[in-house]
Amino acid sequence: MIGILALQGNYQMHSQMLDKLNEKNILIKNSSDLDGCDGLIIPGGESTVMSKMMHKYDLFDSIKKFGKEKGVFGTCAGLILMSNYDSENIIGLDLLNISVSRNAWGSQINSFTNKINIDIDNKIKNFEATFIRAPRIKRTDKIDRSMRILAYFKDEPIMIQHGLHIATTFHPEMHNDTLIHEYFLNIINENK
Ligand code: GLN
Repeated sequence: MIGILALQGNYQMHSQMLDKLNEKNILIKNSSDLDGCDGLIIPGGESTVMSKMMHKYDLFDSIKKFGKEKGVFGTCAGLILMSNYDSENIIGLDLLNISVSRNAWGSQINSFTNKINIDIDNKIKNFEATFIRAPRIKRTDKIDRSMRILAYFKDEPIMIQHGLHIATTFHPEMHNDTLIHEYFLNIINENK
């Protein structure tokens, strides 16, 4: 069973993707909801709001602990929350050793969709990626060597994997293509 953090943002569409893959899923609003979950999705939305709510509902420490043992999949704001972000408004869970800049793809292009190539299971697969006020992963040259970059856009990493965790700067739940969700489920199932 996969948990989907449901404090704010695009959690419902992730649930639909998992339904399509016949994977049991539960919306997470309290830390006890995590009991029995094999993995967690942190959706896109507004990271400042989600960060605040994670603290308000005592989810910050429990998700951090969950992520030490189990896989977490973060998309857009979810990736920001998985990073080492540390500001007045957002404290990252530090599940991924990356720094990010928020809303970093320019102000007039707030949202765009592009065909990208993803390098998974030793194959290059096409995917339609939608970026909505997307973050950028900083300092790519210093990215941890144990971190795998699965996709690039304009020479910048947009999808990464570290152990059981994956994260995308784009929204993979928007175009009915379950490729990335399926990949996450495979990681989780292999490590059960
Ligand atoms: N710009 C948002 C943030 O910083 C992320 C946008 C998104 O998740 N689509 O939280």
